[in-house]
Amino acid sequence: MVKLKEVGLKSDKSVFGQIAEHNHEQVVFCHDQDTGLKAIIGIHNTVLGPALGGTRMWSYASEAEALADVLRLSRGMTYKAAISGLNLGGGKAVIIGDANQDKNEALLRKFGRFIKNLNGCFITAEDVGMTTKDMEYIRMETKHVSGLPEAMGGGGDPSPVTAYGTYMGMKAAAKKAFGSDSLQGRKIAVQGVGYVGAYLVELLSKENADIYVSDIYEDRLREVAKKYNAQVVSMDRVYDLDVDIYSPCGLGGTINADTIGRLKCQVIAGCANNQLRDEQVQGPALAVKGIVYAPDFLINAGGLINVYAEIGGYNRESAYAQTERIYGFTLDVFDLAEKEGLHNQQAAMKMAEQRIERIGKVRATF
Ligand code: NAD
Repeated sequence: MVKLKEVGLKSDKSVFGQIAEHNHEQVVFCHDQDTGLKAIIGIHNTVLGPALGGTRMWSYASEAEALADVLRLSRGMTYKAAISGLNLGGGKAVIIGDANQDKNEALLRKFGRFIKNLNGCFITAEDVGMTTKDMEYIRMETKHVSGLPEAMGGGGDPSPVTAYGTYMGMKAAAKKAFGSDSLQGRKIAVQGVGYVGAYLVELLSKENADIYVSDIYEDRLREVAKKYNAQVVSMDRVYDLDVDIYSPCGLGGTINADTIGRLKCQVIAGCANNQLRDEQVQGPALAVKGIVYAPDFLINAGGLINVYAEIGGYNRESAYAQTERIYGFTLDVFDLAEKEGLHNQQAAMKMAEQRIERIGKVRATF
């Protein structure tokens, strides 16, 4: 269960108090008696374009927690889209329920009707608890959905593109830390070799990096290690390894009070979302330790870029070309951080906010 404490919002605030806290534009509560649909669509900011964000289906402990989650996640999408140079705003949706038991065609299509009624202000895609098949059902009711299978003109699995963007961000961080973006011979620990992690390991092996891998699932771990000639390390040991680069590709929050003192790396660059348990604490702490941190929401944006590429006709080549720009954006973040004495996460957020402000002015006139 997602706890309010983890999502960083307080339950004692009124609904409008929570919406106002980070200046969300619109929150839509969707209800349907027949299908049992209970969903919330959060639209944080549409200055740059329509709000795009995945739909998550989860058994929230309470409606307040579902609201807190959708507000937090939709705001995060605004930053991710803005810093990636996309003409997209930030949004997200949550469906309250058990994805294994409560999901069915009628419920998903009813949800699609709610998205349709937003007239393109919100575009959705897959997230936790949802599949490409579910997107197909939503697509039957609205065209404002991406993350469709390739057979339906979509971009298919976004993981390889996410891995490519993470790789680009990692190379930029290596350039900053070591003076060269070559990863040949670099000792790199990849924590989590799921969809994205495994693709990342493949890219690193092509560059002859010295790879270490860990994962909860033994079988998967052995398979990836064997295929790419990587060394297996136990889950907890990953933080103590004497490596050049630590790449968190499992779950968020792995950089925290317990682990930060143990890290010996000079670079952190991975695809996991929300890697810093508390960005106000670990953001500056990493800078003090001299670790070059490549902000997660910037370098894992390949998946978003891939679904964005579906709007107006998917083209894999252009999705990869756009993703490659993560390299330059990451270097820009480091420059801004240095110039203004900010830590890298702060600088990335500032860069995103600056773009929204500038483009907002461009669009202020007819
Ligand atoms: P996944 O579930 O396929 O892979 C995650 C892997 O990490 C699993 O194999 C899991 O066992 C492992 N893991 C979790 N915690 C671990 C730990 N403490 N130590 C070692 N292994 C651990 O997920 P994915 O699609 O590869 O995504 C990985 C991360 O990247 C997630 O945080 C996700 O939110 C983020 N992300 C993914 C995409 C995408 O395109 N799939 C896009 C942006 C961000």
